[in-house]
This record gives sequence, structure tokens and C-alpha cells, in this order.
Amino acid sequence: MLAVKIVQEQGIEVQGVAFETPFFSADRALEACKEMDIPLAVLDITREHLVMLRAPRYGYGRNMNPCIDCHILMLKKAGERMESENADFIFTGEVLGQRPMSQGKQSLHVVAKRSGYQEYTVRPLSAGLLPETKPEMEGKIDRRKLLNIQGRSRKRQIELADRYQMTGYAKPAGGCLLTDPGFAKRLRDLFAHDSGLEIRDLKLLKVGRHLRLNDKTKIIVGRKKMENMVIEKLSQDRDIVIRTSDFPGPTVLVPYACEKEDLQLAAGICVLYSDAPGDIKTLAECRTGGAVSHLDILPAKKEVVQRLII
Ligand code: SF4
Repeated sequence: MLAVKIVQEQGIEVQGVAFETPFFSADRALEACKEMDIPLAVLDITREHLVMLRAPRYGYGRNMNPCIDCHILMLKKAGERMESENADFIFTGEVLGQRPMSQGKQSLHVVAKRSGYQEYTVRPLSAGLLPETKPEMEGKIDRRKLLNIQGRSRKRQIELADRYQMTGYAKPAGGCLLTDPGFAKRLRDLFAHDSGLEIRDLKLLKVGRHLRLNDKTKIIVGRKKMENMVIEKLSQDRDIVIRTSDFPGPTVLVPYACEKEDLQLAAGICVLYSDAPGDIKTLAECRTGGAVSHLDILPAKKEVVQRLII
């Protein structure tokens, strides 16, 4: 938002570009652009992001966050947008040294270079500390009016936000879902066991408990009503959906179905997490496509189930 203000102060027209994948949304960008009254294009980059995510050239951060490669992809997409919109340059709100992995001097250089749009990439908040770009040389933007902020402190940014009377700006966020250790563990497991995963498999990582029964079979257990609904919604005809027939309980999803003995265990887990009494057999309904079958089953053993949680 500050970068936008600084560029707008030079009388330059600005358009926003934000990105979406199952790991992050454009919600904050939407709010910001609404507050600043500028148009925003939201681009879904899930497919390209996924290809990159499996083997990021510059590796992962502490979890499954490939921040440098992710920034490269976003800048590349923004550059393509610049060309299609006939715009003069692209700019970001990055601040030199603000984030150790992705905003060090070397990283900013690599990101811009690898995006293919280095000479058109302006960082208005730190431009005074970075090499001059083409739009600056050509006078499309006045370098003397750009800033020289660096480091992790946000003091100057907060002062500027006050000066611009910005109220609705979001607090600094820790990162997207890929920086979450629990989520990263589930994603690593998915990558290790699925060669041709689908987008909905990524969406499923965000809900429920995930339990790996063996190399071929993983199940997802809803923890509350909302999660049961999401799991149900994301299920497909070739999955198995399990629910207890006579007691409230979770929706359990077996993506891409499973062997008979794994189904017994999955149904037992469904019973374990349900309100059914722990010592008697309970009826579990197993649905795949239009076909429904029932298993009369004891709850799975807690200590066994604990070991299966991803
Ligand atoms: S935190 Fe997530 S969205 Fe942000 S750069 Fe890293 S991987 Fe990309």
C-alpha cells in the first residue's frame, strides 16, 4: 500500500496484481486495493506454482515455503501482465532486508533477474539502495522521490502509513500455509506418495486429521461439522466416504478408495472418533459413487491410530 502511494504521488496510474493458490489467497490485496480505490487483477497461478513447488530451484525455507521461487513466479506473471496491459513498469512493496530469505540484496537481485523483468522491476520503498532500473533511467518514474528503507524494523513504514492516514492496513503476516509446520508435513507426505496429484488433494490438506494407513492409502477425518461439509464437498465418485449410521460422528474420506482391510481400519477410525460407545460394534456406512455398503465394526485402537497421524 505504501509503495502504491509513493508511485501515485508522482501522478502515475497504478493497477494491482495479486495471486491465488490453495496455499494463499488474494483477500488482503482485495481489501487494500478497495481501500486505495485502484483496480486489481487476481491471477490463479496454482498449476505453475505446483510445478515449481515440487522442485524449487532455490529450495525451501524452514518448512515447505519456496519463497524465492515463489517471488520469481509472481514477478514473472506481473511482468506478463505489464506487457499485456501496455504498462511502463512493475513495482512491489518489498523492502531490502525485511525478510532474511527472500528480501536480502542478493535475493531481490535473483528474483528480478530470474523473472525475466529485472530492468522493469522497481521497489519504491528501497529503490535508493538498489541499482537504477530502466523506467527510472527513462524518467518514467523519478528515482529521487523513491525511498531507501531497509531492515526488519517497520518504524518508517508505520510513520509513512500515519502520514498517508492509512488505517486499514494489515499487520505483517508470518507467511502463507506453506510456512506452517503441520501443513508442510502433510504436503511432504502427499508429494512422497502421489505422482499425479490433483488440485483438490491440495485443498484437502487444509481440513481434518490426516492419517496414513500405508503407502497407498491415506484417510482424512473431519474434526467438526464445517470440516465434514468441506470433505463431503471435495469428495469424488472414486473415493470412499465413511460415516457412522446411528451416532453423530466424523465424515471420513478415503481418496481414490482402498483395499478391503484398509477400509476396515478406516471405518474403525470413523467409529473411534464418533459418539458411539467404545466397546460395541457400530454400523459404518461406506459410500463410493452411488454404491453404499455397511460394516459392523469395533472402534480402532487409539494407540494404533495415534501412530498413523501425519
Ligand atoms: S510465504 Fe508463501 S506466498 Fe509468500 S513468498 Fe513464501 S511461499 Fe510464496
